[in-house]
Amino acid sequence: MTHSFAELTSPEVQAAVEAGSMVLLPVGQTEEHGPHLPVATDTIIASRLSAAAAERLEGEIPTLVLPPISYGFSGRVMKKWAGTFCLSMETIIAVVREVCQSLADMGFRKIVIINGHGNHVGPMRVVVRQLADSHRIDVPAVSPAGMIEKKLAEIGKGGPGGSCHAGECETSLMLHLCPELVDMSKATDEDVLHLEGDFSSSEVFWSTWSRQASRTGVYGNPTVATAETGRQLFEAFVDRLVEFLRVYYKHELSEGS
Ligand SMILES: [Zn+2]
Repeated sequence: MTHSFAELTSPEVQAAVEAGSMVLLPVGQTEEHGPHLPVATDTIIASRLSAAAAERLEGEIPTLVLPPISYGFSGRVMKKWAGTFCLSMETIIAVVREVCQSLADMGFRKIVIINGHGNHVGPMRVVVRQLADSHRIDVPAVSPAGMIEKKLAEIGKGGPGGSCHAGECETSLMLHLCPELVDMSKATDEDVLHLEGDFSSSEVFWSTWSRQASRTGVYGNPTVATAETGRQLFEAFVDRLVEFLRVYYKHELSEGS
């Protein structure tokens, strides 16, 4: 059976609602990812992760994957490199919220945002709060980067400053998922992120773009990326996401919420 929402007919969508299907919404962005990765990197990673999770849940939880949201918010500083689209924060919040509202109006009750873009972590949390408040639907937002933090620390060679934007993590994932779109001859280590202190992102949010200038549009070290690292990271991603989706699918919204 296809997991692609876009390939269904309207009666098939209705049947999916009646079967209690879960819907995954990949949220990406089109923006520069240095001279070695395609501008669709965030969208590709979020989409492939969603598709792999849906396949893994085959026969267990009926799961559909929506066409990805491919444009979103990036800071104006990134326009310095061609290929970056800059929608406002308000626009991306409204688009994702209204896509989820449309799904809820169709009758879907299990909807998950799979966010592949760092700048969208905050906006997606706003969407989750707004939907809970306005529609009483429980739509979680998953941040793949957080889901593989431990695995990356364990197997990564670039250290904590090696994987912020278009660095070891994203480059390894792309080498695993679509090597034909990666040009490693253009990857350099001149924009390794210099972190001060060991404060975690749950303690302090401090935008990278305001504290260190990037020469190539990268923050991190893509030169140490390998397809094998990407394969292990992707597997860790899918394992953790599927684990969460099982918990979420079983969870009933409490009466008082
Ligand atoms: Zn990215």
